[in-house]
Amino acid sequence: GNGEAVVKALATQAKSKGVEIVPGTPVVGLVKQGGRIGGVVVDDDGQEAEVACKALVVATGGYANNKEWIKKYTGHDLGVSLVPVGNTGKMGDGIRMAWEAGAAEDGVEALEVVRVAPVGPEFAMGNDLEVVAMQPDLWVTARGERFCDESVALNDSHSGNVNARFSSDGFTFSLFDESILEHVLEAGIDRGLTMDLRPGYRPVNAQKEIQAAIEGGSKEVFVAESLEELASLTGIDPVTLRTTVDEYNDYCAKERDKQFAKDPRFLRPLVGPKYYAARARTVVLGTKGGIKINENMEVLDKKSAVIPGLYAGGFDAGGMYGDSYPIQISSGLSSAFALNSGRIAGRNALRYLERRADCSSRAGSSQ
Ligand SMILES: Cc1cc2nc3c(=O)[nH]c(=O)nc-3n(C[C@H](O)[C@H](O)[C@H](O)COP(=O)(O)OP(=O)(O)OC[C@H]3O[C@@H](n4cnc5c(N)ncnc54)[C@H](O)[C@@H]3O)c2cc1C
Repeated sequence: GNGEAVVKALATQAKSKGVEIVPGTPVVGLVKQGGRIGGVVVDDDGQEAEVACKALVVATGGYANNKEWIKKYTGHDLGVSLVPVGNTGKMGDGIRMAWEAGAAEDGVEALEVVRVAPVGPEFAMGNDLEVVAMQPDLWVTARGERFCDESVALNDSHSGNVNARFSSDGFTFSLFDESILEHVLEAGIDRGLTMDLRPGYRPVNAQKEIQAAIEGGSKEVFVAESLEELASLTGIDPVTLRTTVDEYNDYCAKERDKQFAKDPRFLRPLVGPKYYAARARTVVLGTKGGIKINENMEVLDKKSAVIPGLYAGGFDAGGMYGDSYPIQISSGLSSAFALNSGRIAGRNALRYLERRADCSSRAGSSQ
């Protein structure tokens, strides 16, 4: 996407200034000399090699793929209650190395989560079925109980957080029916998805995609001729499901949601003749912290003292957010922080090197 274009532009510019980029050579350790950063240890094709440096910016992209840390810091079971999307090999290397070098922890538990239905290798990102299943219609737990005002669908972070709270075995369900499908095909969607699928978009391929998923044996999406059949396919208790849908349809008829006060615009009854369910999972786009920094992106130790020469930015740096990332409040904040924290860290690292060079030359001239 656009993020890749930014990275390419930065890499091109850096190379034109003489920067050497060595891919496939991960940093495995930091070297400290007299309390300052003195270098890094890299894994060069199985051989460890030390590379000297006087200043270092840590930005290894968080720990979204580290099962053990996800459990330890967030309580989630990776791949079950929290599904990583768009991240590979993010093991928290930089965070671990900074901590080993004396950095304090900050914001390590903060996550960027969204509710996505359905999820799986059989579904392309942003497919039309997903577009329908993420609308603010009826959402129920695995037991068939409604659990929130579904208009939280309009806020990614809220929908991710509420889904995480009410999931059991890692999912909740989005329910809709043929009349809701017809509605979104005619009137368009309320909740957009990405910059391309905006409110008003008509998900014309949804039915085809549902059919393909079911024929392909997917266990993430279900279609039935009755609520009882839907309950049997999904494992939801049939009596609870019937009660929930009857109550919900009553709120729709009266245009008043007595349970969660959802905006009547989003009260659309489920009347059949076909009923659909898609499992909704909590997807993590990234972890949002770990290393304590100050406003200069300097890494701080447990006494809040600067570790000279050590900087952090992006997903590795902590303290930007509370316990979760507010996507809707400032969409793009995450990339903007990655870019700007890197820029601020780089600028301050340069000043630090200049100060050190200055000190050395003054020490040299006074001898
Ligand atoms: C699916 C998805 C959608 C997103 N959408 C948005 C959006 O719409 N808006 C937005 O603002 N943000 C979005 N983000 C978040 C955005 O991508 C991140 O904020 C940003 O990429 C973080 O930058 P970073 O430099 O911290 O980490 P990254 O971009 O992940 O870069 C870290 C780099 O460090 C490398 N690395 C890891 N370990 C080591 C090691 N030991 N040694 C050397 N290198 C190492 C990695 O290979 C990687 O190249 C999205 C993220 C995902 C996954």
